[in-house]
Amino acid sequence: MFDNLQDKLDRAFKVLKGQGNITEINVAETIKEIRKALLDADVNYKTAKAFTDDVKQKALGENVLNSISPGQLLTKIMNDELTQLMGGSVTELEIGKNPTVILIAGLNGAGKTTFTGKLAKYLKEKRGKKPLLVAGDVYRPAAIDQLEVLAQQVDVPVYTNRDSNDPIAIAEEGVAEAKKNGYNVVIVDTAGRLAIDEALMNEITAVKEATQPHEILFVVDSMTGQDAVNTAKTFNDRLDFTGVVLTKLDGDTRGGAALSIKSVVNKPIKFIGTGEKMEALDVFYPDRMASRILG
Ligand code: GDP
Repeated sequence: MFDNLQDKLDRAFKVLKGQGNITEINVAETIKEIRKALLDADVNYKTAKAFTDDVKQKALGENVLNSISPGQLLTKIMNDELTQLMGGSVTELEIGKNPTVILIAGLNGAGKTTFTGKLAKYLKEKRGKKPLLVAGDVYRPAAIDQLEVLAQQVDVPVYTNRDSNDPIAIAEEGVAEAKKNGYNVVIVDTAGRLAIDEALMNEITAVKEATQPHEILFVVDSMTGQDAVNTAKTFNDRLDFTGVVLTKLDGDTRGGAALSIKSVVNKPIKFIGTGEKMEALDVFYPDRMASRILG
């Protein structure tokens, strides 16, 4: 994860290593390298610029204590700033209501259905919940089959209605089923499209209005870089979602989406997907991710 970015930041810091103190000149050079590393990682330009301006100002403003080298000081500043950039502290899922309704949205192939299965497993095993899944993709029978297979793997029931082509009614039926049978979390998997279109947005908005979800999680493929950020923005403008799920961070992703989404969309990343298996899900901790990026 983020190997390339890690290498480049490491090289940027080398400029400062071995220097006795922080000066306008050696900081400027390092900052330039950091900005380049971020842009190469597909971080949004405005985000990269604001971030590096901030780091520079902090580095020049600090009094370097004798015990800390310029390299160490910059690493600390970077660590704090990267953590802030990714949201500061962890944002917990709101699962206090009974039942809690969680709507899953995103484009086809982002990893929605996989995440729905992973989330059910997480809620059941780590949070002691009793989840019910709802198969809301009425356009692709294969999507319903896929959800049923995953649900079986994680041993959680799925509400389906293969005779209906009305995702709003299915979602409402799913919530009613949960109330009737004592499930305390309802996770509604919705249909996606290959690209954003009006019909998709209208449909998800209608499902949102009908079910009044407590959480709307937007699932996006981190490998798509700045596209991920742009898609997130469009979905958020329409849906006002409560959190982002970044998938496929185990792949050859450059990291730009993880670093840019919070500042562009102002919604927290809540989970990351790190593989195809049902256990490959992590709660997103900005500070741990920052440490990981800095190596
Ligand atoms: P959907 O169309 O949004 O429901 O996407 P799917 O859940 O069907 O996922 C699309 C593909 O991405 C599948 O082959 C999944 O196994 C794969 N996938 C989903 N999440 C991850 C992840 O975190 N890491 C990896 N490597 N693959 C993933």
